[in-house]
Amino acid sequence: MRKWARANYQPGLPLGSVGRVTASKEHIELSKDAAAEGAVLLKNNGVLPFTGEKKLALFGKGSFDYVKGGGGSGDVSCPYIRTFHEGLSLMDGISLYMPLADFYQENVRWQYQNGKAPGMTAEPGLSEGMVKSAREFTDTAVFCISRFSGEGWDRSEVECTYEPNPWVSETTMPKLAREIYPGGDFYLTKEERALLEKIKGAFQKIVVVVNAGGVIDTSWIKEDGRIDAALYAWQGGMEGGLAVAELLTGRKNPSGKLPDTFAESLESYPTTANFHESFDYVEYTEDIFVGYRYFETIPEAKKNVVYPFGYGLSYTSFRTECVSAARREDELYFTVKVENIGEFAGKEVVCIYFSAPQGTLGKASRELFAFAKTESICPNASEVLVLQGSLRQMSSFDDEGKIEKSTFVLEKGEYHFYLGGDVDSAKELGFVVSLKKDRLIEKCPQKLAPTSLSKRLRADGHYDSLPVGTPYDLNECLFEKMEPGTEEGLTPEVPFKERSSLFDEMNKKGILFSQVADGTASLDDFIEQLTDEELLQLLGGQPNTGVANVFGIGNLPKYEVPSVMTADGPAGVRIHPDCGIYATAWPCATLLGATFNAEMVEQIGAAGGAELKENNLQVWLTPGMNIHRHPLCGRNFEYYSEDPYLTGKLAAALVRGIQSNGVSACPKHFAANNKETNRKHSDSRVSERALREIYLRAFRIVIEEARPWTIMSSYNAINGRRASESRELLVGILRDEWGFDGCVISDWWTRGEHYKEILAGNDVKMACGFPERVRKAMEAGAVCRENLVFCARHVLEMLLRLD
Ligand code: BGC
Repeated sequence: MRKWARANYQPGLPLGSVGRVTASKEHIELSKDAAAEGAVLLKNNGVLPFTGEKKLALFGKGSFDYVKGGGGSGDVSCPYIRTFHEGLSLMDGISLYMPLADFYQENVRWQYQNGKAPGMTAEPGLSEGMVKSAREFTDTAVFCISRFSGEGWDRSEVECTYEPNPWVSETTMPKLAREIYPGGDFYLTKEERALLEKIKGAFQKIVVVVNAGGVIDTSWIKEDGRIDAALYAWQGGMEGGLAVAELLTGRKNPSGKLPDTFAESLESYPTTANFHESFDYVEYTEDIFVGYRYFETIPEAKKNVVYPFGYGLSYTSFRTECVSAARREDELYFTVKVENIGEFAGKEVVCIYFSAPQGTLGKASRELFAFAKTESICPNASEVLVLQGSLRQMSSFDDEGKIEKSTFVLEKGEYHFYLGGDVDSAKELGFVVSLKKDRLIEKCPQKLAPTSLSKRLRADGHYDSLPVGTPYDLNECLFEKMEPGTEEGLTPEVPFKERSSLFDEMNKKGILFSQVADGTASLDDFIEQLTDEELLQLLGGQPNTGVANVFGIGNLPKYEVPSVMTADGPAGVRIHPDCGIYATAWPCATLLGATFNAEMVEQIGAAGGAELKENNLQVWLTPGMNIHRHPLCGRNFEYYSEDPYLTGKLAAALVRGIQSNGVSACPKHFAANNKETNRKHSDSRVSERALREIYLRAFRIVIEEARPWTIMSSYNAINGRRASESRELLVGILRDEWGFDGCVISDWWTRGEHYKEILAGNDVKMACGFPERVRKAMEAGAVCRENLVFCARHVLEMLLRLD
């Protein structure tokens, strides 16, 4: 097929050899395998797996109210969704107590009909009689819990009321949360607790299954001896219910590990104090001590951990041994033998953690250095893995100039390594890297320095006060800013085309873009001929064509510049159901994080990218890469982990898979978009060190290792400047330091001013540009043609890469 034929002609051509790949059997099977691969077995006293003939009573509205993934742009229309009930009912040997099932099915249907969304349904009360008759049917209860969250609101009732917002879900969901989950959905509700008590009063064996996109309180699971087993199944996409059934019945063996620390209460997380302290800003006072970095390092914090990062059980047991560890120059290699010493075939995750010397800068006690996953190993068999990493990964960013200002430093002293499993029980290896002198790894001149961060946490648990300067004016503008909210939902202008002659079009003058693509003309000459107006058109989103619903990029038909369409992610290719096309709904990103399986994530990228392409779409707005800073962030389900290394490696795998199709991935939201409430204004106040080591690090990995062709800047501000208006972020760090050579697009309908975004190197304003306002800035001398060319070139270069 000719280059850009899919963008230009939108052919209905399938990509598969025997038909369409979109929601094909193979892709749905892969989605199911992934859903099983990321489920984490938290507890098992031997009751699982259910083998042979087994009678079960499924309790909880979660048995039918299955949440395949979160809401908003991270949602996807798929052909069907399998609930826990349906999954288990498909298993040979399993019989379910049907009167109970009928009750929940009817109740959930009734709640949906009355306006409730999946996962935002109330737990109905259950009569004693029903519990009793279920007990007569079986001694084993499965308690199913589900949770939902989405874009534009956090998992709480907090709602920003002074920000104009026409998006229904962003305003109704916090209200619904207040109704159903008063006090937040992190804890069991009163009704769920009452149900659990009833189950405990009647049943001998109790298994808990959790369907949630993020962390909930699991202390009651760990502490309660009456609960025999628990599977944390996340939001598993369209086949989540079936995947869980395969795990519970031993057709598959759990191998997921927690990508986040599960602590006993919200207060245990250092980020809780200021998460919703203000609508306008968040102070990242915990600094680099995010997730396990906090719990492992800060005195007394560990006692609040219920299940640590990297934790997860299996139906079998493994013996893991580091056979050799070696340093070759600055690279480290760990050869690890994993032996299955139990009775089930299964996969195992191996993690290497390190501890750096506390030195002058202070460090987290443990950090993830490398991870790998075995294939399925049969009992008595083994597999050897080689895990690799480099010394520079262990450096710290000295933003205070204690050793060398604005420099990544490897401090002198001993670096120790630990082999796990989970971060807490990982065992020290004898291997030590000793540095006699401090080593300066990389100078990165000061960027994104905070002005309004009042304190930062140190490794010994105390906070240092910081001097607070004068904040930038977030809304500074040459002329009056648009009334916030009036930009919401604006669609791009449809460029006007007069009646013209086909014959003239065939004899087009000037250089065509296809000539640049085939190497017969240069991009410079092509750009040279474009008027300022034409350049401006490239810098704003373009009208939808075909099945697209989130607009396009490009579109200069006169020069044969295609208009390529974007589509959401991350959970699948998001096509409006009215089109009649249903795509594969993949498990949520947190579940993919829990797989610790980069190879599988790459396969999902390749499959999802093919679905994108088959539907004549070209830029997939995925992966979501923000860090799980706080358990209640409404979009954590779209992101992988609290750890930047795990996030970066898995996201890089996804990008590689997607782009192998000749379509573009688009990592988002760059950067520090860690709260949803008032996300378009909130200022993330964070030290340069935490930015460099935590919030930017995952993006850096993805850019250096997978070279995405597009990236999306975030809505929020970082230290007083909107991400989309920050040249330090988008040019200084992204391009100059990391060598990004793709196209930067804004998030949809930012509150950023278009001309400021252009000056910052945010190449395209989505969903539409405001050329009239940029012209005004040009007239005032604030923007010149070179600024337009700088951004337009990136757009064109990205288009040239597409198939
Ligand atoms: C979200 C993005 C999404 C975009 C397009 C925004 O509201 O933040 O993640 O890709 O909309 O739907």
